[in-house]
Amino acid sequence: MIPAEFEYSKANTVDEAILALSLSEAKLLAGGHSLIPALKFRMSRPSMLVDISRIQELKGIHEEDGEIVIGAATTYAEIMADDYLRSQLPFLAAGTSTIGDMQVRNYGTIGGSLAHADPAADWPAMVLATDAAIEVKGPEGKRRINATDFFTGFFTTALDENEIITAIRIPVPPEGTVGTYQKFAQPASRYAMVGVAAVKTPGGKVRIGITGLTEKAFRASAAEEILSGKALDDNNIDAAVEAAFRDTEPMSDRFASAVYRKHLAKVYLRKALLEIA
Ligand SMILES: Cc1cc2nc3c(=O)[nH]c(=O)nc-3n(C[C@H](O)[C@H](O)[C@H](O)COP(=O)(O)OP(=O)(O)OC[C@H]3O[C@@H](n4cnc5c(N)ncnc54)[C@H](O)[C@@H]3O)c2cc1C
Repeated sequence: MIPAEFEYSKANTVDEAILALSLSEAKLLAGGHSLIPALKFRMSRPSMLVDISRIQELKGIHEEDGEIVIGAATTYAEIMADDYLRSQLPFLAAGTSTIGDMQVRNYGTIGGSLAHADPAADWPAMVLATDAAIEVKGPEGKRRINATDFFTGFFTTALDENEIITAIRIPVPPEGTVGTYQKFAQPASRYAMVGVAAVKTPGGKVRIGITGLTEKAFRASAAEEILSGKALDDNNIDAAVEAAFRDTEPMSDRFASAVYRKHLAKVYLRKALLEIA
């Protein structure tokens, strides 16, 4: 499997990368763990790869204006090792540790995962449950896209042509917030057959992000409504699990039928709710 020919260029700044994108039929290269396989299968044939993996302004995690800011080119391994993030929302590091294998976690980036929007990827569920905003920059400047509006379909997002994800901005959680990520992993790749991220604030608000079940990650709004402000007891959890996927049309593939996926989703939603309870 050999990719079609392409040029390679390394960007030192976000603006350089945006310029390179607008000048040619280029694609951004971050960790390469989704893009390189796509090139090898010739599902994608860009004329140029613009490497953004070393752009310093896209790296690292810090707090700014009441938000946890994760640079788009921060790798999974860096996310797992970050003490500040672990002190605020430890389940994000734990959830990230379930992605792929060590090589994938050393190269793969949060921005690459969100831009690729694989329906079985893990981070989409986690950005939904944490009420994150995706910060992007393009030729027209910066804008923020709420995670709930970001995933628009099968491998598609609200990113415009020539826009780059620069950061993921998660509101600093009020003290006492709890969260969890529960997934049934595909045994070979570790992608989520079903993944459920759930967060409960001390005020009783519950947010739930689901991945792996349908063609795009989504918020389980019916379950959230049943649970918000209520005790997470057996009756309420039963009602939420029953309501969560009533109108959902699950994917079906060689790994799992639609019926089995919906069953898994209910089991893993229950596990997640019991965990945050
Ligand atoms: C064996 C294997 C197992 C895996 N298992 C899992 C798993 O269990 N869970 C999981 O979630 N994922 C899994 N992955 C996918 C992995 O997480 C990828 O690394 C990730 O989906 C893409 O991140 P990347 O940095 O490698 O992006 P790349 O492959 O470099 O890029 C992916 C796409 O995003 C675009 N892009 C990259 N960065 C940006 C940006 N900042 N702004 C805009 N567009 C951008 C690229 O142009 C490209 O189209 C696995 C991959 C492999 C190879």
